[in-house]
Amino acid sequence: MSDSLPPVYARLTIDTDALADNWRRCGQQRPKAECAAVVKADGYGLGIDNVVPALTRAGCRTFFVAQIDEGIRVRKLAPHAAIYVLSGLAPGHGDRFAANALRPALGSLEELREWSAFVAATGWQGGAALHVDTGMSRLGLRVDEAQTLAAEGELFRPSLLMSHLACADTPEHPLNARQFEAFAGVRSLYPDVPASLCNSYGTFLPADIGYDLLRPGVALYGSNPQPGRPNPMRPVITLAAQVLQVREVLPGEYVGYGATWTSRRPARIAMVAIGYADGYLRSGSSSDDFDTAVAVVAGKYCLIAGRISMDMTAIDVTDLPSGTVKRGDWVELIGPHLPVDEVARRAGTIGYEILTSLGTRYDRHLAV
Ligand SMILES: *Cc1c(COP(=O)(O)O)cnc(C)c1O
Repeated sequence: MSDSLPPVYARLTIDTDALADNWRRCGQQRPKAECAAVVKADGYGLGIDNVVPALTRAGCRTFFVAQIDEGIRVRKLAPHAAIYVLSGLAPGHGDRFAANALRPALGSLEELREWSAFVAATGWQGGAALHVDTGMSRLGLRVDEAQTLAAEGELFRPSLLMSHLACADTPEHPLNARQFEAFAGVRSLYPDVPASLCNSYGTFLPADIGYDLLRPGVALYGSNPQPGRPNPMRPVITLAAQVLQVREVLPGEYVGYGATWTSRRPARIAMVAIGYADGYLRSGSSSDDFDTAVAVVAGKYCLIAGRISMDMTAIDVTDLPSGTVKRGDWVELIGPHLPVDEVARRAGTIGYEILTSLGTRYDRHLAV
């Protein structure tokens, strides 16, 4: 779609001021720590090109991505930033890390040996994180491996010591305290290496676990980092879709695939141009037995009618005065009135999946 033409079908608007505010808000939570930004999965679906310049302008100097190619994209936008690659050293790819000044988060002894050999052979001094597993059993050296490594006094000195919390979104979960303790123990082995433990939820926990560097991701994009309490984050994205047509449906007539939704009254249905191919998840579909997703149409919440299809979704707008909705109007599916977490709950998933499923058929506009 050319810039000179108005958007059709669907549009995603990104409020970079809100994004910057959310990043600052995370930092305020632990003023002694530096606040980084996690921008993996293309900036949680918003687009690395959209989020990294805004975060850099706000003062962010450290980024985390999952993969090398994401790191390369961030490097082009943030020439002076520290960039960590959370999936670690892909086998035989030391030179790509060095060529783009990316830092692997080394998550096993095998990776650590390969990186040490690469560093010894090339003299590369770009840094790497040592990722220690404190109870999640995903990536990271075991605590005893980190202890042995430290005791052997190997030459390897990480630029960051990190671990990841499995249950920080559930403050009362007993694993949290175990992970805090394990990390404090490992930290004491590397007292002069900057340390990092907190994702979005960890950043907002009361425990004294701020360490030197915060790693919020999802909260930056508007998701609530303290579930069950008011969301301190501003909404960042608005996903809107255009009405293709408004049609009358008689009592007893069906809407959509599988005929799962039956009209119980003379209804008006707005068909909007978005579907699961755009990341508007099919699990938000409704039927005669249960309601799930909603949309904001002319300022009112309206239920989705029937199954969400690949390219379109039906909305029951019967309760709006006739003529309020017409072809070409825009409908909000995610936004200030429909927070990401609420949309996720209604589709039986989490905000992360809503964000990272955002489609590629629509433009991403920056709010002005
Ligand atoms: C994704 C990720 C984060 C960010 O997590 P959020 O829950 O999105 O804040 C931080 N650290 C690691 C290791 C991650 O994989």
